[in-house]
Amino acid sequence: MLASGMKETLSQLVPTGNGRPPARKQLFGLDAEALTALMVEAGEPAFRGRQLAEAIYCQRIAEIDEISTLPKALRQRLVDDGWQIARPAIAQRFQSIDGTERYLIQQADGLTTEAVWMPEGDGGESGDGSNAESADSLDDCSPERESIIDCHPERAPIIDCHPERAKRVEGPAVSKVYDEARRSTICVSSQVGCAVNCQFCLTARLGLQRNLTAGEIAGQVLAIFERHAVEVGRNRVNLVFMGMGEPFLNYDGFIGAVRLLVSEVGLSPRRMTVSTSGIVPGIERFAAEDTEFRPKLAISLNAPNDSIRDQIMPVNRKWPITVVMDAVRRVQLRPRERITFEYVLLGGVNDRPQDAAEVARLLRRSGLPAKVNLIAWNPGPGINYATPQPEAVEAFRRALADAGIPAYVRKPRGREIYAACGQLKRTVEG
Ligand code: SF4
Repeated sequence: MLASGMKETLSQLVPTGNGRPPARKQLFGLDAEALTALMVEAGEPAFRGRQLAEAIYCQRIAEIDEISTLPKALRQRLVDDGWQIARPAIAQRFQSIDGTERYLIQQADGLTTEAVWMPEGDGGESGDGSNAESADSLDDCSPERESIIDCHPERAPIIDCHPERAKRVEGPAVSKVYDEARRSTICVSSQVGCAVNCQFCLTARLGLQRNLTAGEIAGQVLAIFERHAVEVGRNRVNLVFMGMGEPFLNYDGFIGAVRLLVSEVGLSPRRMTVSTSGIVPGIERFAAEDTEFRPKLAISLNAPNDSIRDQIMPVNRKWPITVVMDAVRRVQLRPRERITFEYVLLGGVNDRPQDAAEVARLLRRSGLPAKVNLIAWNPGPGINYATPQPEAVEAFRRALADAGIPAYVRKPRGREIYAACGQLKRTVEG
């Protein structure tokens, strides 16, 4: 399947993300089918396309010249024809005392986006919108695979990451095991900036700069895999599309990235969660996706009723809560799957006991298998909300739980490096 709706002719095998041609012709972002078409058009055997895909997405090779499975003459020809792999790369890293890392990731055209690595997930759940138990039960990895190895790129082992083809290619020895990777979570951006304008979110202050292509989104994941020497099929990593941007306002880029990560990298969509502010046409498209490529769904609710939601999330005036819930009910859930409702608690605005009771009634009335992730608002400069006290957060959680709604409190991760929810803005400007 072609990523991002790319066509199959050689002249068109250049990702054009939003009409913005990259400086050179990028291989990264093309799936195996597109790479095969490229090879066939170049007069090469079709299997060269699969070799290219394995080198780019599984062995994570960054330079064409280093793809030893291709004949040297072919490598040279690709370079001479202007092709490059052009995988997004970490340009800058910010380390939090809690182990969270926030990255500025440089795309092929020089633009930077943001992504976050949380070595222990984000608390209260497995980091991907499911609770730990249910995530475990869906895990197709064996228990002895629960470790991660030293993250130096030079020491990263080379592996074939696709589960069915799983064969390890020997690489240099690695030196250290990180147990905390048991529940690590990667959060990626789908747009640069965001047009949704949630009033409590720092990212909203950027406005929308542009959509990211499928390769630019998936590339954030592989850049972080490379840094932490993640072994697909061995290390358990959850992926959340909850960074900068509204994924359902860049649906093709988002779902193209999911397809690349599932088909070429070998990740399970059950370990992915996409969060939307309630873009109904996007939810409807999502509901029509094959479960083979469908992540789990999270709705950024943040209010017990339309009146409060209208104030803090202007998108609610277009798609009010009942309309969003109707769309969500069309998503065919897997056994034991729940819809996650995210709820940013704003002190004195939506965190009162009556708000908790109203949220519980709303979710019970919806008939959806729901769970709630509570997030105490993460402060940002120029935004005038208050972070609720931990006691208020716990009281809210308990009220939901007492009403039969599973609720979890997300630990704030990397607040001081602006890596926490709603804070991804700073370094893009700076
Ligand atoms: S919370 Fe999400 S959807 Fe809302 S403005 Fe921020 S990035 Fe956009």
